[in-house]
Amino acid sequence: MSRFFTSALKQLTPYVPGEQPKQGRFIKLNTNESPFAPAPAVCEIINKTEIENLRLYSDPACKTFLAQLANTYGVKETQVFAGNGSDEVLAFCFQSFCENGVAFADITYGFYPVFTQIFRCATTIVPLQKDFTISVKDYQEIDSTIIIANPNAPTGLELSQNEIEQLLQQNKNRLIIIDEAYVDFGAESAVPLLQKYDNLLVVGTFSKSRNLAGARLGYAIAGEELIADLNTIKFSFNPYNVNRLTLLAGTAALQETVYYEACWQSIIQTRRETTAALRELGFTVLDSKTNFIFAGKHPKLSAKYWQEHLRENNILVRYFAQERIDDFVRITIGTAEQMQTLLQITKGALS
Ligand SMILES: *Cc1c(COP(=O)(O)O)cnc(C)c1O
Repeated sequence: MSRFFTSALKQLTPYVPGEQPKQGRFIKLNTNESPFAPAPAVCEIINKTEIENLRLYSDPACKTFLAQLANTYGVKETQVFAGNGSDEVLAFCFQSFCENGVAFADITYGFYPVFTQIFRCATTIVPLQKDFTISVKDYQEIDSTIIIANPNAPTGLELSQNEIEQLLQQNKNRLIIIDEAYVDFGAESAVPLLQKYDNLLVVGTFSKSRNLAGARLGYAIAGEELIADLNTIKFSFNPYNVNRLTLLAGTAALQETVYYEACWQSIIQTRRETTAALRELGFTVLDSKTNFIFAGKHPKLSAKYWQEHLRENNILVRYFAQERIDDFVRITIGTAEQMQTLLQITKGALS
């Protein structure tokens, strides 16, 4: 640390991303990327002309992209916001809406505690139930902003739209942020609730279900006043936050419904098969509504050893050395063939 570093941030513990090795050696099931390429139309739109156009700034209003996004989700163009990955959108939310503190689960997306440090938000941790589900009753007394990843990570468990509505109703003067990074893999979106509630903000990403993790594209959908606040922050920080190529890719991706729905169905099918096969081998596997599964608690094989054994056999999965979940690993759903390899290596570890 340099002697010039802001003293208030000296204790900051940054987020630790999953390992990103050079392509080739590993079957990469550790950061919830898609095993599939973006839709062909997305790949074609980034041509030489568009690369030459990089001499120009991107559209700070992200107009074409946001019009398409609003159309896709059935909301007004004033109700959508684009960010450089949803991590940036979440950062803007913590900065903008957590003055009176923020509450989230003990086991959830690891970036939330980092944002509370950098933006100095008072934090309330609400433990998940014993079975890792969220009980909306546990949030009844909380007045601060609440953020919930739905489905949750790394558990993969879903909260129904009905339960989210209960949260919204509990206290209409409290903002509820729903992080829907994984919603396309079989969960229920909270977006329709925006018609009835102005204390809801939904965050989404193109990283997981639209096969564009490397493009960095995230969004928020909310009432227009909340979106205006996010724009105030963005235009005070980085007006050109989403680059030209990413805006093109995102706009094209939204038009390729058939392609992406086939990708999601494939992931759901492979998830079902992998879950059944791992249960058959004696693992506990939570009921995932995401593109990963959370599995472990094997009577003969610790999660840590399982992760290490997979790594020695060139398969990367994610292990969290955190209380309550240190006997689980998080496994991204890859292709059916990749999951067959994972099962084979796992059987090897068990024998
Ligand atoms: C992956 C993930 C994100 C971040 O997505 P980016 O758009 O790639 O920044 C946000 N929230 C959750 C719960 C995630 O798992």
